[in-house]
Amino acid sequence: MSQGSSEQIELNVLDRSEHSISRQQISESALKVLYRLDKAGYRACLVGGGVRDVLLGKQPKDFDVATDATPDEVRALFKNSRLIGRRFRLAHIRFGREVIEVATFRSLAADSSKTELSKDGRILRDNTFGSIEEDALRRDFTINALYYDIHDFSVLDYAQGIEDLKNSTLKLIGDPAVRYKEDPVRMLRAVRFAAKLDFSIEQSAARAIYDHGRLLRDIPPARLYDEVLKIFHSGHALRAYQLLRHFDLFGYLFPALEKYLNSDPSEVMLDFIEQALVNTDERVRQDKPVSPAFIFAALLWPLVHQRAIQLQSEQISTIPALHNAGSEIFQRQVQTIAVPRRFSQIAKNIWAMQPRFSNTRGKQPLRLLNHPNFRAGYDFFCIQSMVGLSTHQLCQWWTRFQQEQQQNESKDNKPRRGGHRPRRHRRPRNRSQAS
Ligand code: ATP
Ligand code: MG
Repeated sequence: MSQGSSEQIELNVLDRSEHSISRQQISESALKVLYRLDKAGYRACLVGGGVRDVLLGKQPKDFDVATDATPDEVRALFKNSRLIGRRFRLAHIRFGREVIEVATFRSLAADSSKTELSKDGRILRDNTFGSIEEDALRRDFTINALYYDIHDFSVLDYAQGIEDLKNSTLKLIGDPAVRYKEDPVRMLRAVRFAAKLDFSIEQSAARAIYDHGRLLRDIPPARLYDEVLKIFHSGHALRAYQLLRHFDLFGYLFPALEKYLNSDPSEVMLDFIEQALVNTDERVRQDKPVSPAFIFAALLWPLVHQRAIQLQSEQISTIPALHNAGSEIFQRQVQTIAVPRRFSQIAKNIWAMQPRFSNTRGKQPLRLLNHPNFRAGYDFFCIQSMVGLSTHQLCQWWTRFQQEQQQNESKDNKPRRGGHRPRRHRRPRNRSQAS
């Protein structure tokens, strides 16, 4: 391991024999991008989760590239690229469904005259390019500031990230208070990585969360929506939920629910939320589709359920009461998290569908089965049965009913002589949660 240093930085270089990253663990598209930049004479490194996760023996979610080529130079090299971002200009290079994000090395915020800060120190816009050293120090956590240099396959560690990886510690680069003020979303990222990697947040970074959580109020609801989804679809939603509550951050995301949770909540509802998160985590691990609608339906259910009961006592019947309650709760929720309407609509459908699972007679079950959001509604209902909010027998009844219908359907769909299939009347059913 060789070392170089400047005033603030101590660089550790791990050459290719000193680390475990092999090109087989990197996606072909990311390698293509790295090689082409390198060939054109630019510096090209894999950075962030792509390096961190491979070093931890995990499969990275995506691959990010950092380079000294400017966004326009990247754009010129890749036909399949487009420039995005207002706060930071980045190139997205698309290969089928995979997108490789390429960012130009950035200069240090505080030194940069082109960086626009808000009154409270938040970075609003900056596009000043810098050196790789500066780029490293601007990143959030030490373990996210590791670079895999495609030119010689070495790993560059500017912030003792390797040490923190070994100690399973999330440490912010620089003063936590300053870093949270620059971008309060880093607190949510701390929680997400702590849950995902099972790391502990270094003490000063953890303590500073309590003092700065309120800064999340200034984050646009659309950005919070993106972050909340990353948290709850990380495969570690339950742990992240517990950490968000532990660090008093949950209330800045779900104010009404936080209030409910702090005021004599129903035990079964608490179990329900946890069970829904366990279910989502299992689905992510099994690579099954997960839907934002399901997460919001699960988290907001205690509030919707409570409000619907109130509305029913005002002589509104069950299903409209659930619809109205759902609309009211979402109306407040979207002030903090911008849930797209298509998902809030599905969440409302899931809620309003719940009473219909108690009806197993006549044509009703078949009608419910044909509902476009049936699978999500059924999952939701069965999670309720797991915690005692509905009965196992009913959940089992619906499981059997679906199997029977599928059998009938496959019988009906067997090719007849001449290969003619009868026309299907049912709309194709969405896969669970994916709806
Ligand atoms: P994952 O992709 O698994 O969520 P990641 O670490 O790659 O994790 P990204 O959001 O893809 O996270 O960001 C890539 C890298 O960009 C990070 O590793 C980090 O170095 C840097 N980064 C992202 N967001 C911030 C931020 N808010 N502040 C500072 N650096 C950031
Ligand atoms: Mg990433």
